[in-house]
Amino acid sequence: MDKVVVITGAASGIGKELALTFAREGAKVVIADLDLKAAQETALEIDPASQRALGIGMDVSNEEQVENGMARAVETFGRLDILVSNAGVQIVAPLVEFDFEKWRKLLSIHLDGAFLTTRAALRQMYRQNSGSVIYMGSVHSKEASPFKAPYVTAKHGLIGLAKVVAKEGAAHGVRANVICPGFVRTPLVEKQIPEQARALGISAADVVKTVMLRETVDGEFTTVQDVAEAALFLAAFPSNALTGQSIVVSHGWFMQ
Ligand code: NAD
Repeated sequence: MDKVVVITGAASGIGKELALTFAREGAKVVIADLDLKAAQETALEIDPASQRALGIGMDVSNEEQVENGMARAVETFGRLDILVSNAGVQIVAPLVEFDFEKWRKLLSIHLDGAFLTTRAALRQMYRQNSGSVIYMGSVHSKEASPFKAPYVTAKHGLIGLAKVVAKEGAAHGVRANVICPGFVRTPLVEKQIPEQARALGISAADVVKTVMLRETVDGEFTTVQDVAEAALFLAAFPSNALTGQSIVVSHGWFMQ
């Protein structure tokens, strides 16, 4: 794959696996993450010669950092074919106790981050008359769980953004789609297990079995590799036949 891909939140978890997978397929990869050191380490892991991978520090909710980071990506590799807007956090609390600052922080990372990176990417993609934007949604883009009010709200919102990008981008050869993973054992989820156990008054093992995987067809976690396969498929899809859509990758949790 002779493409340039920018992946946000790519120093850990799903984003990191996507970076490794796209690089293995031959793409040049920009790892944009709040954690500059981890982003640089990931880039070196992909390409010790620093020719095909670039790690940059970027807070996706900061307009200036996004503009600078995206400009640097294009300067370095000459174009931009794929944006994966993946950076995200989870904050869990009952709605009646939800701290307003935390609500705003989560929405800002997920939604401002998706908007700002999309806007910068589209400017370049429109010049090239081609591009693919992939948002990391969640089953929570379609389904709710208690204690996750801002996360569920933000993840639903990404589907709306993807549909607008699909409509506006079509005339410029740009497609936009959403991947909606079920639970994946990344640091984001490992942190949630004891938090949910406390909130629900049950054991960590029961959080996994009766909350996270209860509605899957086989009691299995989705893997980072599963999500990477879905991203490759969407990135490689050759026409506007597949745009404005969201694909659930979840071992059958939430069938549409
Ligand atoms: P993770 O915690 O392993 O990785 C998230 C990465 O995002 C980290 O490297 C972190 O430094 C970075 N990040 C956080 N805030 C940032 C910011 N403001 N700017 C730039 N980077 C920032 O989490 P993950 O599980 O790999 O999650 C990645 C995405 O997948 C998120 O959008 C998450 O909501 C989504 N998702 C995860 C799961 C799951 O079960 N793990 C399921 C569905 C969707």
